[in-house]
Amino acid sequence: MVEAVMVSKSFGSHEVLKSIDLRVERGHVTCVIGPSGSGKSTFLRCINHLEVVNAGRLYVDGDLVGYREKGDKLYELKPSEAARQRRDIGMVFQHFNLFPHMTALENVMEAPMQVKGVSRKDAAARGRDLLARVGLSQQVGHYPAQAVRRARQRVAIARALAMDPKLMLFDEPTSALDPELVGEVLDVMRELAATGMTMVVVTHEMGFAREVGDQLVFMDGGVVVEAGDPHQVLADPQHERTKAFLSKVL
Ligand code: ADP
Ligand code: MG
Repeated sequence: MVEAVMVSKSFGSHEVLKSIDLRVERGHVTCVIGPSGSGKSTFLRCINHLEVVNAGRLYVDGDLVGYREKGDKLYELKPSEAARQRRDIGMVFQHFNLFPHMTALENVMEAPMQVKGVSRKDAAARGRDLLARVGLSQQVGHYPAQAVRRARQRVAIARALAMDPKLMLFDEPTSALDPELVGEVLDVMRELAATGMTMVVVTHEMGFAREVGDQLVFMDGGVVVEAGDPHQVLADPQHERTKAFLSKVL
């Protein structure tokens, strides 16, 4: 579903991603760990067209991301072309970015209506289903600042699912939550994984990575230091940098 081949990304002279090679299989959950500043968010943002890679090739479902190939030349995609590719990718951020003036249901209905031209009636029916799926059937009419406040991340997940994504990206979805809310969000993610959704999850939740992940990727300093079966990477890391990081977080 995702293939990165020698992907690099710089901001000015600062090379943030350095020749990343990575494969994410369809239907698999890939968890990405690594210290702050190692390039995890930038990598997700490249997959989701929020940044354009400078070198190498990044593919989502066989489509080159950010560029069009013509002969041996690459042309940067126009915003409208990038937007079309991006419609199939759902992203959940650390800070939920819900529309504060809309109810939970309206938040979930918005993109299908605006971007896909789904009717209000159909968007509402689907929205109710999705909110029920994340355990929020009682909160459809609540506003983000009020009763649904504690469930904002689950609303954000339902909102991303409303676009029927083929790939879901999560950037530290539980890092900003009160501890007692973390489990609810991880449960929703676990259920989503069980449906066969392809997911890339940047997280510090090692238990989730171990139980749900098919692959665990350790990034440091803009490179993939180590990637493999989560049980194996966590129990028997091969690189000193991985060992040092894990000794701090486990
Ligand atoms: P992580 O998510 O692993 O903490 P990031 O991908 O957010 O790491 O950041 C990696 C590095 O890239 C950091 O040094 C950060 O300051 C830098 N960076 C990220 N986005 C930008 C940007 N838009 N402009 C300049 N530097 C950036
Ligand atoms: Mg980050």
